[in-house]
Amino acid sequence: MPDTLQAAPPTPLTTLTEDEILFRDNIRQFADERLRPLVKEMDEHGVFNKDLIHEFFQLGIMGIEIPEEYGGAGGKFFESILAVEELSRVDASAGVVVDVQNTLVNNALLRWGNEEQKRRYLPRMAAELLGAYALSEAGSGSDAFALQTRAQLQGSDYILNGRKLWITNGKEAGVFILFATLDPSAGYKGITAFLIEKDFPGFAVGKKEDKLGIRASSTCELILEDCRVPKSNVLGEPGKGYKIAIETLNEGRIGIGAQMIGIARGAWEFAAKYAQERKQFGKPIADFQGIQFQIAQMATEIEAARMMVYNAARMKDAGVNFVKEAAMTKLFASQVAERVTSLAVEIYGGYGFTRDYPVEKFWRDAKIGKIYEGTSNMQLATIAKLVLGK
Ligand SMILES: Cc1cc2nc3c(=O)[nH]c(=O)nc-3n(C[C@H](O)[C@H](O)[C@H](O)COP(=O)(O)OP(=O)(O)OC[C@H]3O[C@@H](n4cnc5c(N)ncnc54)[C@H](O)[C@@H]3O)c2cc1C
Repeated sequence: MPDTLQAAPPTPLTTLTEDEILFRDNIRQFADERLRPLVKEMDEHGVFNKDLIHEFFQLGIMGIEIPEEYGGAGGKFFESILAVEELSRVDASAGVVVDVQNTLVNNALLRWGNEEQKRRYLPRMAAELLGAYALSEAGSGSDAFALQTRAQLQGSDYILNGRKLWITNGKEAGVFILFATLDPSAGYKGITAFLIEKDFPGFAVGKKEDKLGIRASSTCELILEDCRVPKSNVLGEPGKGYKIAIETLNEGRIGIGAQMIGIARGAWEFAAKYAQERKQFGKPIADFQGIQFQIAQMATEIEAARMMVYNAARMKDAGVNFVKEAAMTKLFASQVAERVTSLAVEIYGGYGFTRDYPVEKFWRDAKIGKIYEGTSNMQLATIAKLVLGK
């Protein structure tokens, strides 16, 4: 990447434009006033409030990068990052619903959809249709291109058979970008992306997982039994699905980084406040240097992770290669989220270990950052390949 991109003096990474501030503040207010009161119940029951999804559409945050001509907000990737961060500060499940829609599904449609597909789907993605992204299977996670779901051409349709696992938004989604292979012996070159609507014959949503964290976000199995998909619903070219998967997930990882800094900030804010209220030895625990240092360390790590997230997002918007930075961002932000949320539980003492207080949920929610959209080891593998030039 060149060291300089423009003649204008560089601005601090975390400086937002007026529009970005307005956008962020709007979501922050929604998250505090509308989302926060629902969080505990959604987490306990493991169900996402349906009205909220409708409200996300009304807020204009489900089609952030979709151009206005297709009914979207015509915004930048950076705004998607702000939205995911602000929602995740209050509830990481809400963050991932919006993240998958914008950074994976809309992103893939915008980059790889033909004009007819864009006209058919994008206005709905911006207005009422929730999307999901289905790559993983029981036997293929990190080794995603070992997937077994099979697609065979029959006349003007493809017939799909197989099962997907762990699909975020699975329960609520109306459309799925789903990866299947035309020829298992062709390895990654057989992989093809399909646009599948939930009422296509032969498609069903199976078991929903009961999870440690992001419990309100649905994570489901998908079942395809002779599922009939029109040829016109191939996204991109047959056999080029691997490219779509890799390139979409590169952007998605910055979104997960944003989710992680949102979680870390949310937990930090509670911990910093509690430390000033909780008294031991006759004074607030925040008066003890040991606690002050913990709170300072947490704030420093959040700041570092946030700069990485913002930098990677701004690189994406500037059109420069961001693959290494995206992998580093997800790796580091998920480590920070785990450390910060764990310390937040400790600052709350015994209370932090109970469900009566908010911090244990942040800690449970943070764990997923090291697992989905490529585990930490897979990020390290990408980074190693790029920094070693292999
Ligand atoms: C809540 C949740 C939501 C998800 N949402 C989606 C979704 O919407 N769409 C989707 O397609 N998938 C989704 N996933 C799947 C997720 O992307 C996979 O779980 C993840 O990629 C890891 O795959 P795996 O679970 O099969 O673990 P495995 O690949 O079996 O990995 C197990 C362990 O081995 C390590 N490992 C594997 N290979 C190597 C290697 N070469 N070198 C070093 N270490 C290695 C991993 O790092 C990990 O620690 C979701 C998962 C969860 C839990």
